[in-house]
Parts: sequence; structure tokens; C-alpha cells
Amino acid sequence: MSEPAKKDEAPKKDMKDVFAAVENIKCSVQKSQRFVEEFLSEPMCGKCHPCMLGSYEALVRLKRISAGIGNGADIKAINRIADQMLEGSRCIKGKDTAKFLLGELKGEEFAEHLAGKCSARECPNYIMYRVVPEKCVMCGLCKDACRYNAILGEKRSSFRAGYLPFEIRQKRCVKCGDCLPACPYGAIEVVEEKTAVLV
Ligand code: SF4
Ligand code: SF4
Ligand code: SF4
Repeated sequence: MSEPAKKDEAPKKDMKDVFAAVENIKCSVQKSQRFVEEFLSEPMCGKCHPCMLGSYEALVRLKRISAGIGNGADIKAINRIADQMLEGSRCIKGKDTAKFLLGELKGEEFAEHLAGKCSARECPNYIMYRVVPEKCVMCGLCKDACRYNAILGEKRSSFRAGYLPFEIRQKRCVKCGDCLPACPYGAIEVVEEKTAVLV
């Protein structure tokens, strides 16, 4: 078992690792959440309050937005926390985290999320995969591609009639996106969860 960190010990995680963990994430909300989670993945040294308390509070707020239950007050709070972290952090780790958050908050994406939109399609709570019945030829390729057994349907055979288009079971779908390229007929689409508008 690893030894618990002493209270005045700064997190050992190199910020390069934290930045590397988020480099392939496109969505600002997902990116910010992952960044702070990585930053907090080791015991916090707790030398300065704006960083120690602020990073945890920022994570709570980011998770609310990511879950689709955030509001303007959450965005304001993250902004305020990041400002205070930038000013009050003693080491580069707290300051880098603050700068990262402030950078991500500058764009339109956070506001877009409050309106129910994740244009990067990376927030699972904001999107829904569905089959367009008129385009589905019941080939079954999407079902073969889905590792979560989330697609219902029976492959069409030439000697039988009465087939129904395939369907995505929303409760089982984890929004991994694997079915999208698997359909050669463009019969699977991604829509916004709240508005059903194409993403
Ligand atoms: S800014 Fe640095 S020293 Fe201060 S609490 Fe954060 S990690 Fe510790
Ligand atoms: S998005 Fe992933 S889990 Fe959902 S139906 Fe498609 S392949 Fe299955
Ligand atoms: S791959 Fe496309 S056409 Fe084939 S069953 Fe799935 S949705 Fe229908």
C-alpha cells in the first residue's frame, strides 16, 4: 500500500502528464473536467486555500455541466475560482490549472452546453444515437459493431418478410459512436438529447 502524502507535500504529478491526458479531448467541458480530475488524482498538498478548495469546487461545478444540470451560476463560479487560483496559488501547478480553466471558459462552448448542445459530441448526456427507420435496410452491421448489445433488430433474409428497422435501446447505449461508421447506408444519426436536432 502506498504511503499517505504528508500535508505539506505538493502533488507529485507532473503537469505535463495532466496536459497530455486531455490533448485529444475536443469538448471544453469534458476537457476541463478531465484536467481537474487528473490534477486531483493525487493527494492535495493543501498549502494554499484557493487551489486546495477551489479545484474541488470547480470539479463539482464541471460535473454538473457535464451531466446537463449546470447553469450560469456554475460557469460564474468556475470563472471566479480560476481567477482566485491564479492569484492565490503558490506554485505553478495551481496557476497552470487556473490558466487552463480560464482559457477553456473563453470560448462559446460552456454557454452552448447550457443550451443543450455539445458540438464535439463528447458529452454523453447531451447526445443520442438513433436509427432513421426509412434509411435502414436491416443489414445488421451496426448490431455487430455494438459492444454493448444496445441495438435491437433482425437481419433481413430474402425469403422472409415482415422485418422492422433496427432500433437503438437508449438505456443500454453508452454513446461510444462505434455504430456510426459501421452503417454503410447513413441510417444512424446523432441528435441533441434535449431538442432532437442533428448534432
Ligand atoms: S498551488 Fe501548489 S502549493 Fe498551492 S495547494 Fe495547489 S499544488 Fe499545493
Ligand atoms: S453508440 Fe455505441 S453503445 Fe450506442 S448503439 Fe452505437 S455502438 Fe452501441
Ligand atoms: S447498419 Fe444501418 S442499415 Fe444496417 S441495420 Fe444498422 S442502421 Fe440499419
